[in-house]
Amino acid sequence: MTISEQLFEQAKTVIPGGVNSPVRAFRAVGGHPLFIKSAKGPYIYDEDDRQYIELINSWGPMVLGHAFEPVEKAVRDAIGHSFSFGAPTRKEVEMAELIVSMVPSVEKVRMVNSGTEATMAAIRVARGFTGRDKIIKFEGCYHGHGDSFLIAAGSGAMTMGTPDSPGVTKATALDTLTAPYNDLAAVEALIENNTNQIAALILEPVVGNMGCVLPEPGFLEGLRELCTKHEIVLIFDEVMTGFRLAPGGAQQRFGITPDLTTMGKIIGGGMPVGAYGGRADIMNMVSPAGPVYQAGTLSGNPIAMSAGLAMLHYLNDHPEVYTRLDEIGNKLATGFQASLTKLGLPYTINQIGSMFTQFMTDKTVTDFETAKTCDVPRFGRYFHAMLKRGVYLAPSQFESLFVSVALTDELIEQVIQANEESLIEAA
Ligand code: PLP
Repeated sequence: MTISEQLFEQAKTVIPGGVNSPVRAFRAVGGHPLFIKSAKGPYIYDEDDRQYIELINSWGPMVLGHAFEPVEKAVRDAIGHSFSFGAPTRKEVEMAELIVSMVPSVEKVRMVNSGTEATMAAIRVARGFTGRDKIIKFEGCYHGHGDSFLIAAGSGAMTMGTPDSPGVTKATALDTLTAPYNDLAAVEALIENNTNQIAALILEPVVGNMGCVLPEPGFLEGLRELCTKHEIVLIFDEVMTGFRLAPGGAQQRFGITPDLTTMGKIIGGGMPVGAYGGRADIMNMVSPAGPVYQAGTLSGNPIAMSAGLAMLHYLNDHPEVYTRLDEIGNKLATGFQASLTKLGLPYTINQIGSMFTQFMTDKTVTDFETAKTCDVPRFGRYFHAMLKRGVYLAPSQFESLFVSVALTDELIEQVIQANEESLIEAA
């Protein structure tokens, strides 16, 4: 038995399922999770002292590689001044100013502790601002574990949702309407059937949570137009895409201005941080400026702000990071595609910048239905074949890769080679 296996057995006796977040349990791919001891640059090390090339990077935050020196130094410096004050600090002002300067649509911003908190607060503010109750989300998009988002599609493509988890009330589900991603007509129909009842439309402007799915040309523009016309608050959930697809996120890359934006992951440099922000008139609804309540003991925590500030300053000052992230994404996609062609495999690769998924299906993947046509058992075999070759991927077909700039050209070649061998092994 490996140390990871032992720890997993131990963990299961005291932690539900042995993990503190479900996907970590490797349920979708079988086997047991690796228990991680440390990480540096492009590598992660498990308790059995095995080294892996990192393609998860804590599900996004470690975009500059692990233990990135400026972030590490900022945290060390901050620790000397105590860990939490529960009072305003200079760093929070600096953080808000930096976010406002980097993210095109954000005029005011509130810091929270996770992406989940950010999305929950954003829809509350949208509801307070519009005086309406319902929201629209897209099937396959993930916005954290707030009740309003754990909603499956109803029986028809355009019906109201049903709870996707025990514990979410039917009443909550009734206020969340769902549509297929990239389907503007479905959104239009929902809006028409619920006149003046929809407070917000929330989406991942590029989806990472059903694997990487791109918005088709005109989709984001169409949503912007519909939301403006019907006075619906358009929320871009940029927890994944923020500071990754561009310094100003997907909204900058696509030139679309949402009303509110939710952020997380990279914004904390690896510490637990989230944020939501946007139009000043909407954000001024938030307490104590306005009547919509939202608070947090650890919100704006000085250690987290220090890590996040070091990360964002670095990204803001080094635009070449984004050129390199795009280059890495393009190299991986080209290399993977070459292997697929060579092996005669009809799989689909979706990629934009450093977001990337190789879907084990011959369908073009544009929404959740098409993503679900993937050969999931085969992905499980492929995943373990990659692990055996020292490449640490997200343990699910329905995730994007999260590369960091620490990935050298030599390592990219190793990953491409491992991918080809693993595709053969998984066949
Ligand atoms: N929104 C998106 C797009 C996400 O990918 C995630 C998490 O993966 C969340 C929200 C929730 O963030 P957190 O896990 O920090 O609560």
